[in-house]
Formats: sequence, structure tokens, C-alpha cells
Amino acid sequence: MAKQMIDTPNLDELEKGPWPSFVTGFKRLAKENDMMVDLMGQLETSYQHMKGYWKGGTVGVFGYGGGIIPRFTELKDENHKPLFPEAAEFHTLRIMPPAGMHYTSNLLREMCDAWMETGGSGMIAFHGQSGDIMLQGCKTEDVQKAFDRFNDMGFDLGGAGPALRTSMSCVGAARCEMSCFDEAKALRIVINNNIDDMHRPSLPYKFKFKFSGCPNDCVNAIQRSDMATIGTWRDNIRVNEAQVQDYYKAHGMSDLVNDVISKCPTKAITLVAADKVVASDTVSVAKLGDGNALCIDNKNCVRCMHCLNVIPGGLLPGNDKGVTILVGGKSVLKIGATMGTVVIPFMKMESDEDFEKLNELSRNIIDFFAENALEHERTGEMIERIGLANFLEGLDIPVDPNMISQPRANPYFRGDDWDEQVEKWNEHKQSAA
Ligand code: SF4
Repeated sequence: MAKQMIDTPNLDELEKGPWPSFVTGFKRLAKENDMMVDLMGQLETSYQHMKGYWKGGTVGVFGYGGGIIPRFTELKDENHKPLFPEAAEFHTLRIMPPAGMHYTSNLLREMCDAWMETGGSGMIAFHGQSGDIMLQGCKTEDVQKAFDRFNDMGFDLGGAGPALRTSMSCVGAARCEMSCFDEAKALRIVINNNIDDMHRPSLPYKFKFKFSGCPNDCVNAIQRSDMATIGTWRDNIRVNEAQVQDYYKAHGMSDLVNDVISKCPTKAITLVAADKVVASDTVSVAKLGDGNALCIDNKNCVRCMHCLNVIPGGLLPGNDKGVTILVGGKSVLKIGATMGTVVIPFMKMESDEDFEKLNELSRNIIDFFAENALEHERTGEMIERIGLANFLEGLDIPVDPNMISQPRANPYFRGDDWDEQVEKWNEHKQSAA
């Protein structure tokens, strides 16, 4: 017999308005699961008192040091009995999703069944901020059972605590024409190589890898990861003239000028007379069929993706594809939110050797972080403290002018050893040639 629903006037407010509400979902689950009835009671109390009533603890599964987020209620009566006993233990299992987050519908059904049959609350977040499949609401006694069931299906725990965290790659080449490298492969290689740091937390703080196939950066790698690998290209934007003309026919000159040409941040796109321009090593041209042509000066393109997004299929990433690597993105913490800083402006990512280089770099960056970061300090904060130049030197990465867009305004670089840096850069270019 299901528990009687608790009055939740504050939560009910969240069902008003045009958007679907999580409260409606909770109520649906609560019809069949007493844990959700008590969870709503606890949450309603929090809304009334404007205070959270969860505390952490230590809960895990055999062989793993992380991956479970323990939550115990603090709402107790005078005899220390929980006010909402069914939700007194409400732990979360972080499960690592497949690269690119591809599932079959059968697998999704199987996951839902497994969660309900092993004592779960029924609540699943696809996917949490770190990319995990979050199975939320499990009692201590059921944690091992639930994990074993998911493990039998081929899933592994993700990261929690001061550890390598669950990774994310965008949907990528499987469904997106902008993809510039095999994101899923890169994710699997890097994560499999560093899995020990995910399951046995031993780092100063959390560390995240994320992989986006193009500069649209659909997994927000630049803001949300300590090491972001983002696809890019270094030759000309490719043009499919017929599709550019289709866009032009459907939208007209006004949209082309206002939505494409004038939105280019570096004014790399211009409208010219078709007979006055030819495509070259650095210039892409799309004739519009009315005597005009769209002309892209690729040397000035900063790969912002705007024109490619507005004319999908008509303008596409170039053929010489690879990745840019950035480090130090993170949320607020000690020094405010930071975006990743470029440390490798361009690197090919096609052959097995290329992927191995990425793998090696990722391990070196984790090792450097493990040895040099202070407790509770993210990579971005460590770099801010020790200086980017020292970080690059520690990793033996040559300083490259392409790392920064405004060298004179960038506080990371000092001018007093500039000549020396220029010499180093010239040597690096010669050895790379
Ligand atoms: Fe301009 Fe390049 Fe952005 Fe296109 S991708 S709008 S050419 S900067």
C-alpha cells in the first residue's frame, strides 16, 4: 500500500507556468514509490525553511573509492528518528554514459527496469552536469545491488570526489556534419588510460576531460573542463555552392547581409561581384547566381562557427582538420569562472599516433596537476597561481603566439625574456618542419 501523499504547497507552485515541471514527475513516481513521497516531504520542508537538510557520509561499492554520492537526511524528531524515513538515505549512483551518449531504446528500457527492480527511487537524470547518468535515490543496503545490475549491463561507475570525473563527448561524427575528429575514440582512449584516477580518488581536486567535435563546443568543454579537446580546421571553409544558393533563394539578400555577413566577428566575409573574385589558398567563394558572390577571407576567420551554423551544409569546416587543446576551464570556486586557455593551437587527430599523442598529453597534464596543485584547487586556479609560462615549461610545451589573441594585453606573458622566447619558438618551428 502506497504511503499517503504529503501536502506540498510550495512545490506545487513550481508546476505553474508553461514549462514541464520536475514536481509533476516526482508526483507520478510517488504514486508507486514511498521513497518519493518522503522525498517530497523533505524537499517541501527545505522550501519552507529555505535550508537544505542533506548531509554526506561514506557509502561505496566493492573495489571502488568513488562514484557514489552519499546523502543522509538531517530532518529528525526529538528521538533522532527521521521525519521522512523512506527518504532518510537517498544516495546517488554516478554511472558513466557511453561516448557521444548513444543508446538504443531497448537499453534505456532495460536501465529503467534495473533501477526500479534494485530499490531505486525511479529518478534518473540524463545527464548530470558532469555528463553522468545520475541514478538518484538509493538506500545504503541497495547500492551494491544496483551497481552490480548496471555493471552486468556493461556500465561502469563515473567519478565523484577529488578524482578524474566522468567525461563527455558530443554526439559528434555519428550525426553532425561539423565534426572535425573522432570524439568518441578520443574519449575512450583517454578515459580508459586514466580510469584508475576515476575510481580511486587521489587527486588534489576534481579533474575533467571533455571532447567537442567542432568550435560550437556542444559539451561546453571550454567552460566546464580542465582539459578541453575541441575540433577545428586550419585550411579554408569548404563551400557547397548549390546549398548556399538554396539558402539565398529561400532567405534573400536582407537575411544574407544581416544574419551572415554582418554577424562575422572579424569581418572575414564580404559580398563582392562574382566576376571580380576567384577562390584561392586563403579565399573561399560561393557564387550566389545573381552576379554576386560570398567571399570568405580565411586568414581572418576565427572559427566562430556562426556562418556555418546559419548556412548548414552550404559552408562547412575545411579538409585539414584537427583539434585545439585548452586547459583550465571551470566554474566559480576561488578565482571566479574561467574559460580554458589554449595550450596546443592545432594538432592533427587522425592516425593512431595522433591519438596516442593526445593520450600522453592528457596523462602528463593529470600528473602535473597531481604534483603541483594545492588541496581543493582546480587546474585553472593552479595555472593562475604558478603562471601559464611555468605550466607550459613544466609540460615541455613551447610557447606559441597562436595561444593568445591579444599578446600585449595578456598578463600571463612577460616581455623581458621575449627575445629568448622568439628564439625558442624559431627552434621549435624548425624542428617541427
Ligand atoms: Fe566569420 Fe569565420 Fe565566424 Fe564564419 S566562422 S562568421 S568566417 S569568423
